[in-house]
Amino acid sequence: MTRPELRLRSSILRANIVAVRERVSPSALMIVLKDDAYGHGLAWAVENALRVGVDWFGSYDIRGGIVTRQLVGGEARIFAWATSTDTEIDDALLQDIDLGVGTVEYLRRIVARASVLGARARVHLKIDTGLHRNGVLAEDWASAIAETRAAEQAGLVELVGVWSHIAEASDAEDDEAQAIFLDAVRVAEQSGTAPSALHLTASAASWWRPELRGTVSRIGAFCYGIRSAEGPDLDGVTPAAQLVATVTETREEAVTIDIGSFDGLPSTLAGVTVGTPAGGRTLLRVNRTSSVVDAWTGARVGEEVVLFGPGTSGERSATALAEHIDTVGEEILTRLTSRVRRVVID
Ligand SMILES: *Cc1c(COP(=O)(O)O)cnc(C)c1O
Repeated sequence: MTRPELRLRSSILRANIVAVRERVSPSALMIVLKDDAYGHGLAWAVENALRVGVDWFGSYDIRGGIVTRQLVGGEARIFAWATSTDTEIDDALLQDIDLGVGTVEYLRRIVARASVLGARARVHLKIDTGLHRNGVLAEDWASAIAETRAAEQAGLVELVGVWSHIAEASDAEDDEAQAIFLDAVRVAEQSGTAPSALHLTASAASWWRPELRGTVSRIGAFCYGIRSAEGPDLDGVTPAAQLVATVTETREEAVTIDIGSFDGLPSTLAGVTVGTPAGGRTLLRVNRTSSVVDAWTGARVGEEVVLFGPGTSGERSATALAEHIDTVGEEILTRLTSRVRRVVID
């Protein structure tokens, strides 16, 4: 039995990373690795990022941060921002992982664990700039800073960063978020410290709104070549992954390929154009473990059909597919199950 493949082009990933880094410089690039590097595979992403000299790695949770530490060795900075258990905090402290802290309760637990372990936690305090998705509220910020500074004086933490996350929905909202963010940085500085990692923006705002960038930019999607839904193509950034299925059966009207909704392909994708050896053809139906494509002359079992990715006569990117069903490219990629074999091409 054949299996669909997500073919990973390392040279494209590295070229994307370099293009993104040049675009956001002098802001430092933190490559975001959540959801198994957006479905591409954490180890593959980290290895290639290392090869082009990335030195900040953003892992949603501490568990992913630990795996990343094993891959990158001792030097690189790893940032994990999910509120975690005490056991995981201990792991993070022992593995030298920077912690994103969005509540005073979490800060207190980190301070307590640092005290037990005789460690010093590197923390990035998060201000809520309007998303209401974890983050210290503006009215509580001064006291959170005071508490952090007290723990710093006790040698238990180091306030290395101030950060937030913005909606990237409208320029006006993002400007407002930045104003709150800069106020928060000012309050931190007035307490007599100067956190060096100031980070607010992800892919879209980092790319298009240079005035919003801090000293660090947390970027996932664009590194993998996933452009924004309804957004333009990006100079020097192209999809790093290609999704390929194999023909398993041919009939006069239609051919069957070996990918279906159980592999994570949304069944609502029926109607999109996919790439066949004879050019673009319509994806007629997505079944559970197979799909049906409009036939082409001389179709043979074993031929390949490209659902998205470089060099296809169908849709060029996961985002282009996603736009047909009103979602984002990230969702197409991260839904692909482990039955879809990740194959590194170069
Ligand atoms: C996912 C995420 C990012 C990266 O967003 P992209 O749009 O993929 O670049 C950055 N920061 C946080 C907190 C995130 O959750």
